[in-house]
Amino acid sequence: MTVDTAFNIEFSDRLKELPPYLFVEIDKAKRQARAEGRDIIDLGVGDPDTPTLPHIIEAMKKSITDPANHRYAFDAGLPLLRTEIALWFKNRFGVELNPDNEIYPLIGSKEGLAHLPLGIINPNDKVILTDPAYPAYRASIAFAGGKIINLPLKEGNGFLPDLKKLAEIKDAKAMYVNYPNNPTSATATIEFYKELVAIAREKGIILISDMAYSEIYFDGVKPPSILEIEGAKDIAIEFHSFSKTYNMTGWRIGWACGNPKLIAALAKVKSNFDSGIFQAIQVAGITALRTKPEELDDLRRMYEERRDLLINGLRSLGWKVPPPKAAFYIWARLPKGFDTSMETAAAFLEKANLVVTPGVGFGPAGEGFVRMTITMPSERLTEAVERLKKIL
Ligand SMILES: *Cc1c(COP(=O)(O)O)cnc(C)c1O
Repeated sequence: MTVDTAFNIEFSDRLKELPPYLFVEIDKAKRQARAEGRDIIDLGVGDPDTPTLPHIIEAMKKSITDPANHRYAFDAGLPLLRTEIALWFKNRFGVELNPDNEIYPLIGSKEGLAHLPLGIINPNDKVILTDPAYPAYRASIAFAGGKIINLPLKEGNGFLPDLKKLAEIKDAKAMYVNYPNNPTSATATIEFYKELVAIAREKGIILISDMAYSEIYFDGVKPPSILEIEGAKDIAIEFHSFSKTYNMTGWRIGWACGNPKLIAALAKVKSNFDSGIFQAIQVAGITALRTKPEELDDLRRMYEERRDLLINGLRSLGWKVPPPKAAFYIWARLPKGFDTSMETAAAFLEKANLVVTPGVGFGPAGEGFVRMTITMPSERLTEAVERLKKIL
């Protein structure tokens, strides 16, 4: 963006050196297409399209009228929120967490993921990223001055990193893992986590696990937490979110849990940036955590139906894509006749009024793929397939 100004205001080197934001062109083209009045189907945004569950909204209505909730919140959140998170974690993963020093509420999990490197990474420390990855990791490692080492996720290995390659990397300070994964929708197994934790413990690598999609799973197979592994708590911190589980992306609430020293580092950074989560939202969050697990089955079924609809639709066009086991992304190899993910996304928008995300925007190993979301009503997904029929 160029801004005409009489003063010479320069962005900091830190900002200038951020990895390039590769979605910029597709964002621009999308806005322009909308401004032209074209009916765009946006399979680019990973944001649930259905509303927050009604009992959570009711809890919020009550809590917002209570003046006790209008003041600065405690940095560490309401004690009851932390004990409720501990209870939820125990029920879901069978893992005990101490609410006093192993759980820390966040203003959305992205906030915590982005602040953590400032507490544990020194300039030039090596940080391992599985590639492709959620873009916020790259930016926050860069802000802390860390050096990114990409560990590619390959289809042949179920989009899990090659642990032999990991064992060969010297002097890494930390590593990000994200399962269920955005953008590939891949899931991890307990066996994988066991090996990963063993290597990390041996080499002294801090593990940063992002489980934003823990409850968006299909075919009844629940994704495990890295904290289920014995000894993981010595080296791991895991990030959880209310956003995707309860359709609460706009509310901004999540939590970090795991190693107390890592939690303390994050808490110290945060205490200098923010003053806690709006307490009314914390109260609503307690209600959210008390949702009966079965109540989320409808949501999962809805995504599962949409997944099948889109996968079968694409298959009918000769575009074979394996169905994801979790999260709400279809990670598809480029269809025949397309060379790059950017070119594919541009062509889909131009010729089919369809937005998909070019894989290369998630990192070099994302080239050769596009990401489509299923956070869109079935009719629109059907329409998307119809439009693709004309160009594939
Ligand atoms: C959506 C998402 C998040 C962010 O969730 P918030 O809690 O809303 O900040 C974190 N990680 C991944 C991989 C995501 O896709």
